[in-house]
Amino acid sequence: MIVAVLLLAAALLQPDRPAPLGLRMGARPDVPAYVLRVPLPPSERAVDLPAIAGPEDASRPLVVIDPGHGGHDPGASGAGGLKEAQLTLALGRALRDELVRRARVRVALTRDGERFLALEERYGLARRLDADLFISIHADAAAEAGARGASLYTLSERASDAVAARLAARENRADTINGVQLREQPGEVAAILLDLSRRQTFERSAAFARLVVREGANAIRFRAEPLKSAAFVVLKAPDVPSVLFESGYISNADDAARLTDPAARARFAAAFARAIEAYFARVRG
Ligand code: ZN
Repeated sequence: MIVAVLLLAAALLQPDRPAPLGLRMGARPDVPAYVLRVPLPPSERAVDLPAIAGPEDASRPLVVIDPGHGGHDPGASGAGGLKEAQLTLALGRALRDELVRRARVRVALTRDGERFLALEERYGLARRLDADLFISIHADAAAEAGARGASLYTLSERASDAVAARLAARENRADTINGVQLREQPGEVAAILLDLSRRQTFERSAAFARLVVREGANAIRFRAEPLKSAAFVVLKAPDVPSVLFESGYISNADDAARLTDPAARARFAAAFARAIEAYFARVRG
């Protein structure tokens, strides 16, 4: 029904041109019919798809984990030469290994080494793999030594507070620093379709973020108000529920020690794995 209305809208808005979008509907029986998969312009350069680990069963949900930064972009720096890019990769691998061990979902890393990916390429990989969930992992640094704790961010054009806005601006700079050309934005009709898809994606992203806070209550040291939102480019896949996990402040001695401690890393991985399983139990019934 919604599709019919949208196609009609497409025809009305562009009467002399066929609808520009191919909609992939009902491709998977477990996905409600109103989920729209909207093709976007391809990326400027072809990035090889990463390997998928876990059960061979393609009907299992696919989680794409995105270790932030990498290659010539080290991200934030902490005490003792600690680099965000190394930390995010270690956390991403720990979560991947935990998910493989539990064998309930399939999992892929956007990078499993020191390679640079533009923000658009990161969520682009998730979309090309037809991922069901996207988790971008980061760590922050702040001038105030007292700043510490983890937060979970979902996408919003309006930041939840000034700190969130500054953080998004900093994380988004990964692209501008490296001179990556983003493709032009989709047109008016595409925007209508994207809007519908985004609405459900947003709700699911927020639901997953809440589950992480619930499952991580005794495992991850969160900030007092851990759920935030801001305009992170890396969260902009319109049809893949996405969160950005700021794992802590590498500028804070306690956080840095915790983030590099294998036992704490294992607790993080187990908490996220529980949240991921609870999420798919909910959305897939
Ligand atoms: Zn970052």
